[in-house]
Amino acid sequence: MQLIHDRCTGCAYCVLVCPYHAITTDGWANVVADRCTDCNLCYYACPNDCFVPDVPLKPYRPRVRRRYNAVVVGAGIGGLMAATALAQAGHPVAVFEKLGFPGGRYTEIDYRGAAVTTGAWTSLGPKSHIGRFLADLGIELDYVSLGDVGLSEQYSVRFPDGRHYPSLLDMLTPGARRAWLRAIARGRRGVPADVSAHDYIAGFSDDPDLLAAVDAIAATASGLSSRDMPASEYVQITLDGRQAGADFAMPVGGVRSIIKALTRALREAGGDLFLRTPVARVLVADGRATGVELADGRRVPADVVLHNGGAGRLVQLVGPQHLPPDYLDRLRGLKGVNCAALFCATRQPLFDDAPILMTPGCRRVVGIFAPTRLDPGLSKEGLHLYDAFFPVYDDDRTAELEMALTDMRALFPTFDDALVWHVPMFFTGNWPGTESGQTFDQTGEDRLDPVTLIEGLYLVGMDVKGSGVAGDLIPVGVRRLLDALDCSFGRRE
Ligand SMILES: Cc1cc2nc3c(=O)[nH]c(=O)nc-3n(C[C@H](O)[C@H](O)[C@H](O)COP(=O)(O)OP(=O)(O)OC[C@H]3O[C@@H](n4cnc5c(N)ncnc54)[C@H](O)[C@@H]3O)c2cc1C
Ligand code: SF4
Ligand code: SF4
Repeated sequence: MQLIHDRCTGCAYCVLVCPYHAITTDGWANVVADRCTDCNLCYYACPNDCFVPDVPLKPYRPRVRRRYNAVVVGAGIGGLMAATALAQAGHPVAVFEKLGFPGGRYTEIDYRGAAVTTGAWTSLGPKSHIGRFLADLGIELDYVSLGDVGLSEQYSVRFPDGRHYPSLLDMLTPGARRAWLRAIARGRRGVPADVSAHDYIAGFSDDPDLLAAVDAIAATASGLSSRDMPASEYVQITLDGRQAGADFAMPVGGVRSIIKALTRALREAGGDLFLRTPVARVLVADGRATGVELADGRRVPADVVLHNGGAGRLVQLVGPQHLPPDYLDRLRGLKGVNCAALFCATRQPLFDDAPILMTPGCRRVVGIFAPTRLDPGLSKEGLHLYDAFFPVYDDDRTAELEMALTDMRALFPTFDDALVWHVPMFFTGNWPGTESGQTFDQTGEDRLDPVTLIEGLYLVGMDVKGSGVAGDLIPVGVRRLLDALDCSFGRRE
């Protein structure tokens, strides 16, 4: 298997799927030739078409219907939620997914007996936007909440100088605590649009530990520093997190339980899901989307096309010539937030209180999630799993990784002894780490409308209007899309 090094953006999905551990990564993937058996699994796991098989692959041509009411480009959580809702409403729907697994950045892959996430750590539980959307689809999941494992705090705080606090409020001096609570209470009534989270909180208190913690929390939630995150977004995230409280929960089995349940519900409702089936083009005629062309050349007509593949791919699939110039500029102007996660498995626990650790004052690592604190079954071998999240500031991913490892050693003096394996995963280029915002101009209501300027073409997923914690904002946009589609479906039938 050949690898086109320059295309690699460092996600490490190929490392996770390779059954022979024939791929290593230091921010860029490398194939260890004498371990490779040419099984081609990495080919179907790479979002960036980095792999070139030594022997050309047989074309994969699943059977598709002649026509669908709706076709969905991409089986991310946004695409799957929208498709399932439409299928349950009786519409023939097909979801075409390029990768060999559904869920995009919101699922887990088995690696060395552990469930390793492709991006998202957790949903906020049954009361979150995602939880309520699933319930509306008739999907009931088992969750394990903080309360179930005898905890009350979602996160504790640890500085690289060794200070550790069981919660943010425990960390703050009485004055800083009052100031922070006042800021959040006032923020509930609204904050000016152009104020950053840092400046907003600094207007209430200049306590350096508070400002460092706000920065770590903002970056953990979004990949953006508190100087780039709008205050409104920070307030929303804080309120969402507090509302979840001790009900903060993750689905038993990880976020892929959500994806498994959605794919099952989609199929039960008669919808089709095609993996390893990239869409090459969105067909547009007379200013209207009329279906898609698959990479194998077949055309699949549909009344509406839902795009779940992000703004950059939208331009590529639709073609710039079909997009109004202002809209094209807007799409091209959106820049993904570069970030990374260092996924670690350890013999001994690194921390044993709240499942999330905020780490202000580090050079790179801002927050660490310990999924096995809530669901030890995620590691079959009884290891402790940690997902250390860090914003990426430089193109030298290997150097960024070294800084994150240095942070881990400062935070946990026994880190090297406890570590069994680790996988660095970078979210850069076309596969960005956007959680709550793509850029300062692309959060909340500033995000893209699900209804595009091309008739019959709609958007779902992370880029679409909505506010909240990370992927939990996605169902907000899907609901808007479904409202819009009810009318247009009704008119066409
Ligand atoms: C490190 C990290 C941590 C995160 N943590 C959390 C968290 O704890 N909680 C949370 O809620 N969210 C979290 N997020 C955010 C969350 O992962 C994303 O918001 C969410 O997964 C985005 O979903 P989406 O529906 O927009 O689609 P995506 O996951 O981006 O999926 C899009 C799909 O479209 C497919 N596709 C693209 N082009 C084509 C094509 N031409 N043909 C066919 N298919 C195509 C892709 O292969 C992909 O599967 C995190 C993200 C990262 C990176
Ligand atoms: S072809 Fe198979 S064995 Fe070779 S690197 Fe890819 S996944 Fe691993
Ligand atoms: S982009 Fe991701 S899947 Fe593709 S080669 Fe690089 S690390 Fe592997």
